[in-house]
Amino acid sequence: MPRLKKCPDCGGKMERRKTKFIMESEKGLIAIESIDADICTICGVEYLTAEADEYIEKIVEKILIKKIQSHQEAVFRVAEEA
Ligand SMILES: [Zn+2]
Repeated sequence: MPRLKKCPDCGGKMERRKTKFIMESEKGLIAIESIDADICTICGVEYLTAEADEYIEKIVEKILIKKIQSHQEAVFRVAEEA
């Protein structure tokens, strides 16, 4: 997926930044840190990159299959890429 340069919502400039992905699941809150996203400098809308999307899908699947339940909140940190 090509990197977004302009915000589809307001036409503002998009910046590639790290964000945090949080979702509710039957195992509790899942928070994944350091996710790549294109974020609008004007309205703040966030679009996750395709890679980030895929990564999240995998992690969430793993959590739900492995039945991680010792913590209310499972936090995963993405290995920093160059
Ligand atoms: Zn915008």
